Amino acid sequence: SLEVRDLTMAFGDIKVLRGVSLSIAPGTTTCIIGPSGSGKSTLLRGINRLHEPASGDVLLDGESALKVKPDVLRSRIGMVFQHFNLFPDHTALENVALALRSVKGMSKAEAKERASRRLAEVGLAERADHRPRDLSGGQQQRVAIARALAMEPEVMLFDEATSALDPELVKGVLTLMAGLCERGMTMAVVTHEMGFARRVADQVVFMDEGEVVEAGKPADLFDNPQSERLQRFLSEVL
Ligand code: ATP
Ligand code: MG
Repeated sequence: SLEVRDLTMAFGDIKVLRGVSLSIAPGTTTCIIGPSGSGKSTLLRGINRLHEPASGDVLLDGESALKVKPDVLRSRIGMVFQHFNLFPDHTALENVALALRSVKGMSKAEAKERASRRLAEVGLAERADHRPRDLSGGQQQRVAIARALAMEPEVMLFDEATSALDPELVKGVLTLMAGLCERGMTMAVVTHEMGFARRVADQVVFMDEGEVVEAGKPADLFDNPQSERLQRFLSEVL
């Protein structure tokens, strides 16, 4: 499970998260929606400490994430970004295998074995020796997902994982994500894909101006928004 407790985050003097709390039960998916600049990416970056929170706590299975070493934390909480962030000079297989060697301390053979299996699971067995520039955006994103999954994380965070993809490639990545959800992965998914949020999410969280304005079941938020802010947001995106 993942629990965020009263998290505040700032860039210099500017407060960007104003006390965000949310809780994601094991094996469930929470979609986070909200306007540009509302703090969605900052929240994910605070959860795995790519940016240090100013106050509050993140509990991973009840244990404070602030007490876990950052690289260990990032192996327990996998993250997938909009722009893939693959190493350009490494093959797909090496991209997946690298952290298995450096963080998990696996032998070269073991890491390669695990990495090929993960690539096969995301449908890329045939592309293991390709470098990122020789893969489509959708394939690159699936490599990034395989890389995060290879660490056997307890939680996966997705930040606009399909926003940089050509429209025809979006569906394959969303299907892969929905499959993870079905197989019981615990996930927090920042997305503009409202159809995905409605279909797949157990919980939807609407953020605006650095706070959670509404949270609940997809049908409740989408069909019966309570706040004027969510009503306005939905009228703009749906
Ligand atoms: P989008 O939907 O456009 O991705 P978001 O909800 O992810 O938006 P954030 O990227 O979390 O929003 O940004 C929240 C606020 O923090 C914004 O006002 C943004 O300008 C500010 N911000 C984000 N990153 C930085 C940074 N590195 N330095 C200063 N301010 C930042
Ligand atoms: Mg963002």
